[in-house]
Amino acid sequence: MATNRTFTMLKPDAAANGYIGGILKMINDAGFRIVAMKYTKLSAEAAGKFYEVHKERPFYGELVTYMSSGPIVAAILEKENAIPAFRTLIGATDPAKADAGTIRKIYAKSISANAVHGSDSDENAQIEGNFFFSELERF
Ligand code: ATP
Ligand code: MG
Repeated sequence: MATNRTFTMLKPDAAANGYIGGILKMINDAGFRIVAMKYTKLSAEAAGKFYEVHKERPFYGELVTYMSSGPIVAAILEKENAIPAFRTLIGATDPAKADAGTIRKIYAKSISANAVHGSDSDENAQIEGNFFFSELERF
């Protein structure tokens, strides 16, 4: 069954470049409600587990090193059709291919440092949200 929730991370480049406020404003202006949020840092082990689905991809090592290189913001967001709506808001994985006005077009520099993560399915949104948040941390 489709849910109205997605999971996001504002990645280390977004935090390091001072873009957290700008990106959260875009998320807010697009009509997403914040269900849960935290500022935290992934260990290499945790980043490896989070991105386990990409283990066989050639960029996996780079991705894990990068995602554990600095603090991130993790959040659960709510909106009707949250998964596709949020993927539209963030734009293509490669910011060079992202549509104008998307978060990645505005704030991302490269395919590996692409500012933001967005879940690709309801199932993964639940798994990813559960990775970071207990029931007591959701509002
Ligand atoms: P995310 O899951 O972070 O929202 P995505 O769903 O758009 O991104 P995926 O295919 O799931 O893209 O890849 C996960 C992440 O791995 C990407 O966000 C990007 O940071 C990194 N990545 C993907 N493809 C490449 C690549 N060719 N080279 C380097 N890094 C890559
Ligand atoms: Mg993905």
